[in-house]
Amino acid sequence: SNGSNHVTTKPPPEPSPLRRAKFFKANMRILVTGGAGFIGSHLVDKLMENEKNEVIVVDNYFTGSKDNLRQWIGHPRFELIRHDVTEPLLVEVDQIYHLACPASPIFYKYNPVKTIKTNVIGTLNMLGLAKRVGARILLTSTSEVYGDPLVHPQTEDYWGNVNPIGVRSCYDEGKRVAETLMFDYHRQHGIEIRIARIFNTYGPRMNIDDGRVVSNFLAQAIRDEALTVQLPGTQTRSFCYVSDMVDGLIRLMEGDNTGPINIGNPGEFTMLELAETVKEMINPEVEIMTVENTPDDPRQRKPDITKAKELLGWEPKIKLRDGIPLMEEDFRKRLGILRKN
Ligand code: NAD
Ligand code: UDP
Ligand code: UDP
Repeated sequence: SNGSNHVTTKPPPEPSPLRRAKFFKANMRILVTGGAGFIGSHLVDKLMENEKNEVIVVDNYFTGSKDNLRQWIGHPRFELIRHDVTEPLLVEVDQIYHLACPASPIFYKYNPVKTIKTNVIGTLNMLGLAKRVGARILLTSTSEVYGDPLVHPQTEDYWGNVNPIGVRSCYDEGKRVAETLMFDYHRQHGIEIRIARIFNTYGPRMNIDDGRVVSNFLAQAIRDEALTVQLPGTQTRSFCYVSDMVDGLIRLMEGDNTGPINIGNPGEFTMLELAETVKEMINPEVEIMTVENTPDDPRQRKPDITKAKELLGWEPKIKLRDGIPLMEEDFRKRLGILRKN
């Protein structure tokens, strides 16, 4: 402070690009793994709204695409890195949203060994990174950790009913190990962790042919193809609109609770009811047919969100009937099929 008077006599020089960058430096640098995917890209949109955030996405584009992030490519607060989380990653960040993992059964069953590696080695690497840089890390776990649940609706303290050797195990056992790793790094190394147990989520940017039920029914209704209800059709799911999901994830990250916390919409529907709803709203002429199911399909699923309400002050706002038209608009654009009438 002694010599500071000397400098003020001259007008300050134009800031160099480097100094300008430093002046505008964001004060939160956030890594989103799997950020080119469905939920990840919506999360990135939300995080980028805050001018204090700088967002780094890493993705191997297995199920995600650059197209989901095109509005941010070239933005000074945004960076996109092609990277597979099963390989070590060196970046300096304050928070990690760890989403990288295929979520649709047809994709996670396509290369099950890779799915396990992504869940186990991928999560281990992100925890190693979190440990080295002192970042807080959030894992997007899944309602699949409850397996074919014997408790309904599912509360977080239920340990689940999971087949360890089935065709879904690479995903649900993989996520269970990922949760274990999170808690062991927390207890052993003091890492700040957050675990969200995500229930079925839907919305714009879902892969059109990824085999999940809402995207299948919507694409089928728009293309005038029969809706394929897998037997028995009485199995239930509870569907959360993606903007509600993203709000829940950010609240969990910013709050004080490690979780695991269920994030989902408790509105429960049978697959036949879902088909009827899509038919009525999108294409009343379309047929509904029943087809064979796949092994180990959970018969019922509905989140108990008491914890999310109490600890995060969060609950979903968008009902299925309000979310479907928003997704329909996106699917029609991408399929290039306009609404009749
Ligand atoms: P998604 O398939 O659209 O996104 C996953 C992203 O991860 C993709 O962009 C993919 O390319 C990327 N990825 C996959 N393996 C990778 C690897 N080894 N390295 C780097 N990137 C990799 O799926 P989503 O629906 O957006 O799901 C996001 C997360 O939420 C996943 O962890 C999923 O398990 C979890 N989740 C989703 C749902 C749901 O209903 N969508 C339900 C429960 C849990
Ligand atoms: N790791 C990483 N980025 C880092 C730090 C660690 O990808 O910035 C990986 C590292 O390669 C290792 C894993 O995270 O495979 C676990 O790291 P940790 O330091 O916990 O364990 P260790 O390296 O001692 O096995
Ligand atoms: N399903 C269906 N028709 C389809 C695709 C799925 O009836 O075209 C059913 C499936 O049997 C399951 C439910 O929809 O009971 C949800 O399946 P999805 O793959 O969307 O998600 P997850 O099984 O992971 O909850």
